[in-house]
Amino acid sequence: MDQVQFDFVVIGSGLAGLTFALEVSQLGRVAVLTKAEVTDSNTQWAQGGIAAAVSQDDSWKLHEEDTLVAGSGTNDSDAVRFLVQEASAAIDWLVNLGTRFDSHDAQLALGREGGHSRNRIVHHADKTGWEVERAIVQAVRNNPNIEVFDHTFVVNLLTHEGRCVGAHAVIEGEERAFLARAVMLATGGCGRMFQHTTNPRVATADGIGLGHRIGAEITEMEFMQFHPTTLFHPQLRSFLITEAVRGAGGTLRNHLGRRFMYDYDLRLELAPRDIVARAMDSEMKKHETWCLYLDTTHLSPELLKAEFPTIYDRLQTIDIEMEKDWIPVVPAQHYSCGGVVTDLDARTSIPGLYASGEVARTGVHGANRLASNSLLEAIVFSKSASKAVESESGPLPTKFEPSRYRSIPESEAIRLRRILQKQMTQGAGIVRTDKGLRETISIIDKLEEDYNSIHRAPFGRYSLETLNLIQAARYVATGALERRENIGLHYNLDIIDPSSVSTK
Ligand SMILES: Cc1cc2nc3c(=O)[nH]c(=O)nc-3n(C[C@H](O)[C@H](O)[C@H](O)COP(=O)(O)OP(=O)(O)OC[C@H]3O[C@@H](n4cnc5c(N)ncnc54)[C@H](O)[C@@H]3O)c2cc1C
Repeated sequence: MDQVQFDFVVIGSGLAGLTFALEVSQLGRVAVLTKAEVTDSNTQWAQGGIAAAVSQDDSWKLHEEDTLVAGSGTNDSDAVRFLVQEASAAIDWLVNLGTRFDSHDAQLALGREGGHSRNRIVHHADKTGWEVERAIVQAVRNNPNIEVFDHTFVVNLLTHEGRCVGAHAVIEGEERAFLARAVMLATGGCGRMFQHTTNPRVATADGIGLGHRIGAEITEMEFMQFHPTTLFHPQLRSFLITEAVRGAGGTLRNHLGRRFMYDYDLRLELAPRDIVARAMDSEMKKHETWCLYLDTTHLSPELLKAEFPTIYDRLQTIDIEMEKDWIPVVPAQHYSCGGVVTDLDARTSIPGLYASGEVARTGVHGANRLASNSLLEAIVFSKSASKAVESESGPLPTKFEPSRYRSIPESEAIRLRRILQKQMTQGAGIVRTDKGLRETISIIDKLEEDYNSIHRAPFGRYSLETLNLIQAARYVATGALERRENIGLHYNLDIIDPSSVSTK
C-alpha cells in the first residue's frame, strides 16, 4: 500500500474535523480525509443553532446548570464547565471566520430551545449548520497547509506498538496509508443504525467501528437521543422540524386534536427531548397511530416564513402549509451522546488518537444532550485538542502493523443493514425491555457472524459502513442492558425501582 506522511490526519469534514484542521494548520501539514463530498455531514443539517450565554441576562453558570439538568447530573462536571465557559469565544471564532448569524440592532439574535432557561441559541435562520459549514469549508480551502481528500474512506486506524500512527484509506479503489504524529477522529454520528433518523447517509458510526477495532475505550452509547419532531412522510426522507418551531409556540396534538403533552409534563412541548419523545411513543402506542401532529396554524405566516424558511419551503413541496395544516411527525434517532471516551484535550485511551464532535464521549452531555450544545462541543474540544497536539513531536512515523478489511456484496450488506435497523428500532429504541435488548444482542452477534461468513467482494463503502453500524450497535444494546437505572435517554420498562443501582 502507498504511504504518505502528514503532521496531522483528520478523519471527517464536519465542524469537529475542520475546526481541528484549521487550528493545527499553524503547526504543520494537515490531511483531511472525508468519505463523500466535503460538506456531507451532520453539521450541514443542523438547524436550530449554537448555545452560548452571550446576552446580558445570561451567564455561563445558568448554561452550566441547564446542561447538568438535561444530563440528569451524570455529566462530567469539568467538561461541562469547560464547554460553557468557552462558548462565547467559540462564537467569536466562528464570526471571525465569516459565519453570518442573525442579529437585531447589532446584537446577536438569540433563540430559545427546550431545556434552556434563557434565550441563548445563536443561529442563522433555520440553517445554522449549512452556514457554519459554508464558512469553515471556505477557510479550509484557502489554507495552503490543509489538503482535503474527498471520497476517501477510512477503513481502519493504523497502529504501531500501541500508538495510533495514521489511517488506512481507500481512494478510488486504491489503498493508501496516511501516517501522522496525531490522528483526529471526527466521523460524526450513527443515525443510520435505526429505521427513522434525522441524520444524513454518512452517519454510519464509522468512528465507533474504527475505535473499537484498535481497542479504544467506548462508553454510554445507550444514551441515544431521539428527536421528537421529524416529518412523517412515506415518500420523503426523515426531515427534522427543529425544536425552535416548538420554541416559537408550535404545539403537539394527537389524531383527535388533543394537546396530549398536558398528560405528561408541566413543561409541555418544551420539556427535554427524551420526555417529549417518550410521551409521543406512548401516545402513538396508546392510540395505535403511525404519527402525531405539530400544529403551527396559530402562528403568523410572516413569522413562519421568516424564522423557518427551509422547513416552510420543504413542507410546501408536499402541499403542507404551516399556517394552515398540521404537520405529521414521528420521533427519530437524532444524536449519540456516548462514544469514544476523551478527556478535556480530546485525547482518547489510545496514544496519538484524538476524538471530537459527535463520535466522542467528552462527558458534557451525560445522560441527555441539551439542545444546541453539540456544535459548540465540536468547536471547543477540537480547539483544545489542537493545543494538546503541540506535545506530539518527534519524527513522523514510518511503520505500522498490518491492516485488513473485508467487504461483502452490496445486496447482502443492504439485507443485513435492514435487519439491524429494524431490530435496533424495536429492541433498543426509545423504550426498551430486558428481553428486547437480549434479543437485539443475539441478532447483532448473528449479523456480525453472517457478515464474516458471506463471500468477499471488492471494496464497498456501504458494506464497510454496515459492519461499523453492527459493531457500534452492540455498544448501544449491551450498554442499555447493563444500565439498571432509568435515567436521561435510557428507559427500560423492566427497571422497576428507579433508584436501583447501575452495574456500571
Ligand atoms: C438534522 C440535524 C439537526 C441538528 N441541529 C443541531 C443544532 O441546531 N445544534 C447543534 O448543536 N447540533 C445540531 N445537530 C447535531 C450536530 O449537527 C452534530 O452533532 C455535529 O454537526 C457533529 O459534527 P461532527 O463534526 O462531529 O460530525 P459530522 O458533521 O457528521 O461530520 C462527520 C464527517 O466524517 C466523515 N466520515 C465519517 N466516516 C468516515 C470514514 N470512514 N472515512 C472518512 N470520512 C468519514 C463524514 O463524511 C463527515 O464529513 C443536528 C443534527 C442533525 C442531523
